[in-house]
Amino acid sequence: MVQKKIVLATHNQHKRHEMNRVLSSMGITIVGLNDFPQIGDIEETGKTLLENAFIKARKVFELTGIPSIADDTGLEVNALDGAPGLFSARYAGENPTYEDNINKLMLALEGVPKEKRNAKFRTIIAFVDFNKELHSEGIAEGVITEIPEGRDGFGYDPIFKPNNFNKTYAEMDIEQKNKISHRGRALKKMKKLLINYLK
Ligand code: IMP
Repeated sequence: MVQKKIVLATHNQHKRHEMNRVLSSMGITIVGLNDFPQIGDIEETGKTLLENAFIKARKVFELTGIPSIADDTGLEVNALDGAPGLFSARYAGENPTYEDNINKLMLALEGVPKEKRNAKFRTIIAFVDFNKELHSEGIAEGVITEIPEGRDGFGYDPIFKPNNFNKTYAEMDIEQKNKISHRGRALKKMKKLLINYLK
């Protein structure tokens, strides 16, 4: 890699903060899409998280010429046969708020007892530059709570309680969430791949 600069290919500020925390100690300059206002939302037309992560990373690399990292995440709920999964962002329709998605999930799980509310978050992180593509996966298992709890984070954070913790992601600060979360795990693996690649 000629330039030690990476673009985080996401418009989501929360994701950018989480990713920055892990990658910032690598001696790489990390830039966000804020510096490239011409890049709008990139359509996620893939059939898997892996395809979507690469669609975003490749597109941003093509448009900026800077090595790019993108993630794609899905929440897989056992009692719903893995839904919303790939469609987690659009679960409650086109352009829903986080609250819309949470409300739809709460409704879908109405009456489902605690012990049957298992779910997992899965994230794929993709890296693309002019001569290399890398990817990593991170999974976090937990349960969907019966009511939203906590105010931090984003997305489904207020209703996801990771296993072995008595609080939701939305009750954790970034450091704590990154230590155990799907994205934190995928990022740490990606960091290792990048360190190896940059050697
Ligand atoms: P995407 O990776 O942005 O497509 O994420 C899919 C959906 O999962 C969106 O609704 C996000 O808000 C949600 N999501 C992604 N990552 C997280 C997370 O770390 N916590 C809670 N929700 C998330």
